Amino acid sequence: MPIRPRPFTLACRLCNWSHTFAPRSDAFVVGLDTETHCPRCGAAELRMRQPSLINLLSSKLKTLISP
Ligand SMILES: [Zn+2]
Repeated sequence: MPIRPRPFTLACRLCNWSHTFAPRSDAFVVGLDTETHCPRCGAAELRMRQPSLINLLSSKLKTLISP
């Protein structure tokens, strides 16, 4: 049985882009469950941090709203 990973937030040091990911399984899909590069400026150095409650809630809302 796959272990559901904890949600995490990736943030870009250069352009302040950030996104909270809540992967559904431990098989990450790049672009959906994680990013390797900043989608805004293309920087390769993304910082991972624990999501704040606000990030978590908005991430959950997006999941509910999107088809
Ligand atoms: Zn960036």
